Amino acid sequence: MDFVKDRQHYIDRYDVLTIEECLQWIEIAKKSGRNVREIQKIEKPGNVGALIDLSLYFKKGESYRNKETTIEKWINKDKLHQETYDNAKEPSNIFCDHCNYAMEMKDKSLHWSWEDNPKILFLFECPNCNKRKGVFDSGEVFKHESICPKCESILKSKHTKKGEVLTIIENCKKCGYEYKDVIDFEADEKRSKAEEVRRQYLLDNFRQDYCLTKEEGDHYIEHQAGMDRLSKMMEDKRQRMKIQNIKKPEH
Ligand SMILES: [Zn+2]
Ligand SMILES: [Zn+2]
Repeated sequence: MDFVKDRQHYIDRYDVLTIEECLQWIEIAKKSGRNVREIQKIEKPGNVGALIDLSLYFKKGESYRNKETTIEKWINKDKLHQETYDNAKEPSNIFCDHCNYAMEMKDKSLHWSWEDNPKILFLFECPNCNKRKGVFDSGEVFKHESICPKCESILKSKHTKKGEVLTIIENCKKCGYEYKDVIDFEADEKRSKAEEVRRQYLLDNFRQDYCLTKEEGDHYIEHQAGMDRLSKMMEDKRQRMKIQNIKKPEH
């Protein structure tokens, strides 16, 4: 399994976030009654558009400033997942709970990937009775049982699969609590395809407007540093004048 993608994947992911943020901001500005489309084209300071232009200018610039470090962080996390996955030790001596046959490892997967210490789950199958068992790299056995949120008894669960639709019903024999979950794999896939199309549309249509090139971004950072220096100089000067005023002898 490959967790680490090529660099462009992370660049696209970051750019989509930047575009969404800028578009959302424009949406809010529009709602406040400004004609953004028109305003965006106006570069002259001193008119209504200047404020929006300036905000977008900072949004784009700051997004560029954080781009490399964020992408590095994402890549490092995926590298860590890859390492954890590749180096996880397969638990040994796993026997079938039903017929005591030595089980065979069929698959492994990453769990709790959003946490700092994700686990690797190994899936074992019995060659004799085909029963399955999940064991984590820590040796801990994966428990299928869910606990009733009302009375903490073990829930009875039933899985039924009809075509691409999986229905999970869990119920509590003790207090009557019931939980139903329907997973429609086909609809999920359609949704994720639609999402992919949406992201590509954003990249194709707005990347050049809201995601700065290296040249533009470096120029922004340089300019901002210059502005910081300037405002520090002004502040220093103000402080000096203040001191001078205090020191002036009174007549
Ligand atoms: Zn067995
Ligand atoms: Zn219960």
